[in-house]
Amino acid sequence: MNVPHSSTTAVFWDACKAGQLKLQHCQDCDKPFYYPRTACPSCGGTRLEWRQMKGTGTIYSFSHVHLALGGYKSWEAEVPFTLVQIQLDEGPRMLSRLVGKAEESVKIGDRVTVAFTEREGETLPYFRRTG
Ligand SMILES: [Zn+2]
Repeated sequence: MNVPHSSTTAVFWDACKAGQLKLQHCQDCDKPFYYPRTACPSCGGTRLEWRQMKGTGTIYSFSHVHLALGGYKSWEAEVPFTLVQIQLDEGPRMLSRLVGKAEESVKIGDRVTVAFTEREGETLPYFRRTG
């Protein structure tokens, strides 16, 4: 989830601001991947392009977070929330969180769609359950 700003990640962040989820795609092995980087994690290829994802997937794993650690006062009002690992329909997995408060009914395999959320000057690709 924590994708730092750099020349490698600028397209990712600009797309989020525009309400689009774009991930890199390796032209050598034909695989998309997350997080942004300068070489493909599967084959080491550097012929990379950005492609827009549908922004849909399933919950691969999750954890309810009940404590705001690290001194981040602004997070205290948000606990409990749900940290999720999303299996995107296009293949890559993303670490993110569900919008809103943690709900006990969340389960692995729930369908989700990206829900861009403004937070402290950033547009973050959180997810929302769709059923
Ligand atoms: Zn590759």
